[in-house]
Amino acid sequence: MPKNFTGESGDVRCSFCNKGQMEDNIKKMFKAQAVGSEDAVSICDECVVMCHEMLQRAERNEAERQQQQHARRRPLPKPQELHAELDRHVIGQDQSKKVLSVAIYNHYKRVFKASEMPVSVSKSNILLLGPTGSGKTLLAQTIARILDVPMAVADATTLTEAGYVGEDVESIIHRLLMKCDYDVSRAECGIIYVDEVDKITRKGAHVSITRDVSGEGVQQALLKLVEGTYAMVPPEGGRKHPGQELIPVNTSNILFIFGGAFVGLERIIADRVGLRSGMGFQADIRDASENPETRDLLRQLEPGDLVRYGLIPEFVGRLPVLGTLEELTESDLVQILTKPQESLVRQFQELFRMDGAELHFTRGALRELARQAIRLNTGARGLRQAVESHLLEPMYRLPSETGVTRVLFNAESIRNHAPPVFVRAASEAA
Ligand code: ADP
Repeated sequence: MPKNFTGESGDVRCSFCNKGQMEDNIKKMFKAQAVGSEDAVSICDECVVMCHEMLQRAERNEAERQQQQHARRRPLPKPQELHAELDRHVIGQDQSKKVLSVAIYNHYKRVFKASEMPVSVSKSNILLLGPTGSGKTLLAQTIARILDVPMAVADATTLTEAGYVGEDVESIIHRLLMKCDYDVSRAECGIIYVDEVDKITRKGAHVSITRDVSGEGVQQALLKLVEGTYAMVPPEGGRKHPGQELIPVNTSNILFIFGGAFVGLERIIADRVGLRSGMGFQADIRDASENPETRDLLRQLEPGDLVRYGLIPEFVGRLPVLGTLEELTESDLVQILTKPQESLVRQFQELFRMDGAELHFTRGALRELARQAIRLNTGARGLRQAVESHLLEPMYRLPSETGVTRVLFNAESIRNHAPPVFVRAASEAA
């Protein structure tokens, strides 16, 4: 700091912005004179704040740059390592895990090691097909976490073509950018998961008089993003409005994972492979998955089946990697309750531990919970609802009870919605 830095106010002008203290309502003017010089320089409080912010931003950018360099230097997990890591969080769905592990490995080789490749490798986006609550979003989220890349989730049914009422497709890129604090280079190698893509199929010919802005129109708009374009998104905190400066984000290295239940797709495949007659006209997807002859139908999926379902051929052409997820069985659901690192039972056990008690479900109780979730027909999503409905009462009572060391649920208490057993220290000793 210059020797005779004064910090005194006076009627002088800021050497940076030229504002004068008196006329421009400046709160504070700092003056300094370099040693051995007659010339004094001044800086106003507004410029000090601005410089401080610039320094902070530069510091943040540098930290992020280093972090990114570190990530790039880190060896890319091999497909089998990715699969093993997915196993720790997602139960079952082996075929999809394998397909994803290979696709992700290839994709990030292409992104991070492009300079080492003599030929340019095109991007392979992914389509995950499977019933609701079977783990499609969870798989995509887990991959993003393993690779430490930003991820955004969007619902295809809320999207419309730009210019129409609804969320425009570029808003997904905006969401991704927000996920990484507006670090464009990080967003450009992120993952976008678009759910319910089976709901934006082409509408039938009878409604073609009006423009199909939420079906085929959205597929067309998504196609551009998937193929690689510069999406223009508003800056931090901003909304899109005419004349505003926008941030260009290159989408060519963003990995798109699409998900959908595609109810009825099995019937289209069965028709093609000539299995339909045995299934009967009313056979629904559940019958199909229970029939050993048709259980593997989704494995025989061809791009043409998706076009027949209502996706446009150009869009299907951009999704060469297909993963199919199976409906979760009772035994899968029991594992989901207890096995993953952040399983529901572990989460609640932690909450009960804070009140000094151990929460315990017998094997039979877990099976009953799984059965109740299956009845809700929302896959593993139903588990939370099932568990919460039984835990409300004990969570209400436990904090006011004294001496309870265990809260025990058995099959009976779950089946009959009866209260669990509260085990006290004295009764345990006895
Ligand atoms: P969807 O297939 O509809 O995208 P999600 O992945 O969103 O389903 O699953 C909803 C929730 O159910 C997840 O957050 C997770 O807790 C649980 N879940 C679903 N499938 C699995 C699975 N295969 N393994 C572990 N948990 C799962």
